[in-house]
Amino acid sequence: MSRIFPLDKIRNIGIIAHIDAGKTTATEMILHHAGRTYKIGSVDEGTAVMDWMAQERERGITISSAATTCHWREHCINIIDTPGHVDFTAEVERSLRVLDGGVVIFDGVAGVEAQSEAVWRQADRYGVARICFINKMDRMGADFHHTVTMIDQRLRRKALPVQIPIGSEKSFRGIIDLVQNRIIAFPGDSGSAPTDEKSEALLAKHRQALIEDLAELDEEIMLPYLDGEDVSSSQIKAAIRRLTVSNHIVPVLCGSALRDRGIQPLLDAIVDYLPSPLDIPPVSGVKPRTGDKAFRPSNDDEPFSALAFKTVTDPFMGRLVYLRVYSGRIRAGAQVLNSTIDKRERFGKLYVMHAHHREEVDHAEAGSIVATVGLKLTSTGDTLCDPTRPVLFESIRFAEPVLAMAIEPKSKTDQDKLDDALTKVAVEDPTFKIYRDKETGQTLVSGMGELHLEVLMERIFREYGVRINTGKPQVAYKATVTVPVESEGRFVRQSGGKGQYGHVWLRIEPGERGSGFEFRDQIRGGAIPKEFVPSIEAGVKAVLQSGGLSGYPIVDVKVTLYDGSFHEVDSSDIAFRMAAFMAMRDGIDKAKPVVLEPIMEVEVMTPNEFMGDIIGNLNSRRARIEGIENRPESSVIRSLVPLAETFGFAGDLRSLSQGRASHTMQFHHYEELPQSLAEQAGIRGSRGK
Ligand code: GDP
Repeated sequence: MSRIFPLDKIRNIGIIAHIDAGKTTATEMILHHAGRTYKIGSVDEGTAVMDWMAQERERGITISSAATTCHWREHCINIIDTPGHVDFTAEVERSLRVLDGGVVIFDGVAGVEAQSEAVWRQADRYGVARICFINKMDRMGADFHHTVTMIDQRLRRKALPVQIPIGSEKSFRGIIDLVQNRIIAFPGDSGSAPTDEKSEALLAKHRQALIEDLAELDEEIMLPYLDGEDVSSSQIKAAIRRLTVSNHIVPVLCGSALRDRGIQPLLDAIVDYLPSPLDIPPVSGVKPRTGDKAFRPSNDDEPFSALAFKTVTDPFMGRLVYLRVYSGRIRAGAQVLNSTIDKRERFGKLYVMHAHHREEVDHAEAGSIVATVGLKLTSTGDTLCDPTRPVLFESIRFAEPVLAMAIEPKSKTDQDKLDDALTKVAVEDPTFKIYRDKETGQTLVSGMGELHLEVLMERIFREYGVRINTGKPQVAYKATVTVPVESEGRFVRQSGGKGQYGHVWLRIEPGERGSGFEFRDQIRGGAIPKEFVPSIEAGVKAVLQSGGLSGYPIVDVKVTLYDGSFHEVDSSDIAFRMAAFMAMRDGIDKAKPVVLEPIMEVEVMTPNEFMGDIIGNLNSRRARIEGIENRPESSVIRSLVPLAETFGFAGDLRSLSQGRASHTMQFHHYEELPQSLAEQAGIRGSRGK
């Protein structure tokens, strides 16, 4: 069976951007040129093809990552739409996990914003190669060179301009293409021809600078450069590709998506510089039975392997699972192993998705992105593979929710419908969690921020028809310990027949912030038989989850099992679990527990005249101002604010700035809640109690 697109002609890419940078508009334009959308959708009119959820249209933001396929210069480009709002960070994470390359879009006026930095760091973690597109060059205040400097400095990556804009704002009328050594004039501009002498001089100067930069980084350019030979466009292109794929540089392009300027060169750059599945290292996993390392190179002849990166419930098709196929090929209807849960599943039909419509295909091969129906047990992050050659990939990491809220249906009869809707939404979104409080019968939902929860509640109303009353959002506090302690737990019962005997000594120590939980077994000389250790760990975990006396989940703690004793007849799993539970509960209390609160990174962009008032407002919210970046008309205030103090900030900002300031907010880290506040709020478990 021959492939339609050889592997080196496939690009799996994401378009990554801060909200409002123009990702949706650029995607629309790309689809327009790459021949899949017949009518150009417009975000402003709410008809964009990629924003297919009704709500996204109304809010003008892209929430769910729809995958779409298009074609350019005999290449197949699979685009995964990633959300710009960090409240939907799970969507970004899951897309980055399965992509080979990314186009990062910046607003030429705003430059590099806090959320762009956050997404950039996520992309770094997954080693995603990138090119940058500085958009909105037609807008007042757009500054190409300033944004390039910001990428260099704030994102700490060598930004290599491969284009220079000619003019800006209203007079943005062309692009100097340093690689092809040419000037691209935009059609429809009266008068000023961009091929003037000034542009020619700029081209010569910047092309020389580009070659010098490349010579420093790439030997194949360095040698001819040192010998004074001419360096050809194709040599330059090849060097940029090598350096981009290896994550040494990011080529920077510019344009205006809204005015359809610079989009075709952007498509060329996607094909020329971003990696194909062959350029990325074989994906690594383990053999489920043995734990031995296993690799799956991008090749149709390897055993089938794929990662499920998204599940959605489609009103017409039911449960749709999006897959990135890493190796091998698979037919519709085939049986596969879900190695994450160790269960066999059968594929139904396979589809290639084009934003709105889908194309049924009879098989999928290495490197492709497809959607399938029929998988009942598979959820996001699961590995699917050939049952005879099992492999397990690392699952996708998701942040823990930081904000919780009580909800109830408006009418009691809706309870069942609500449960069903919540379960479905939670399957699709791993950063949305549901808890049922057994004592009060209350349902609590939690997520990554106010907007996140608000959007999900609205979905439940629109898609499932359940009206909901919501309580006040509550901060998801956590607790940790501050001093190391040793703690003993004995669970011994002797009542007639068979007794119970479990006895442990645990060392409980503070771990690094963000480290979660670590358990070590240091039992020597058989004081406790190995078979009981998993039960001891389970007892420890039970206390960490229930929060012991503080009531908040305990994190960033190291627990070492170092001594204890057992009884030949009476010892059991249950007895050791109880002993560990008791040792932990007492130990945590002695280890001077403190409450941790989530701290958000808040970035405000405001016209200078409102700066003073906004800083005042932030200060009243326990904010730490981290930096102020002054620009001619507006400034950016970067701060860290406890989540508990952020409620109502959007409204305050609106009234303080006559609606002209904007802000972004994202989870940054957990930090100790000041003791006075903990006492004031009657929060137990703070230091010294
Ligand atoms: P997203 O949130 O990143 O998907 O951004 P959108 O594509 O929704 O664009 C946000 C806003 O910026 C919309 O009002 C667009 O019309 C506008 N926009 C997008 N690209 C450009 C551009 O190149 N120039 C100008 N002036 N506006 C743009």
